[in-house]
Amino acid sequence: MNTPTPTATTDSLTTATLAQLGQALGEAAANRLDQIERLPLAEDDQVAAVQRSALRQTLGEITAAQQRIADGTFGRCTSCGEPISLERLEFRPWSATCVACAGR
Ligand SMILES: [Zn+2]
Repeated sequence: MNTPTPTATTDSLTTATLAQLGQALGEAAANRLDQIERLPLAEDDQVAAVQRSALRQTLGEITAAQQRIADGTFGRCTSCGEPISLERLEFRPWSATCVACAGR
């Protein structure tokens, strides 16, 4: 008799955890979009321009993470391929690299 193995798209993340992180990503994206909309639109507003560009960058990282969930590669470092710690993913679900690679 084979014992049923829990469905996981990566080695360490369960379907439930993945769903939770996926939801967190969706909320983070909505939150960034909301912040971008609230920024003043004046072209000479340097502070707003910097903030807008930082928010767009994060949005791009969030979209990439959502794509990795769809691909089944989410939770793995895009640099070395090792699993990213759950602690790091919970803090920043769009993390693309593990702590070691991020610090390089
Ligand atoms: Zn790595």
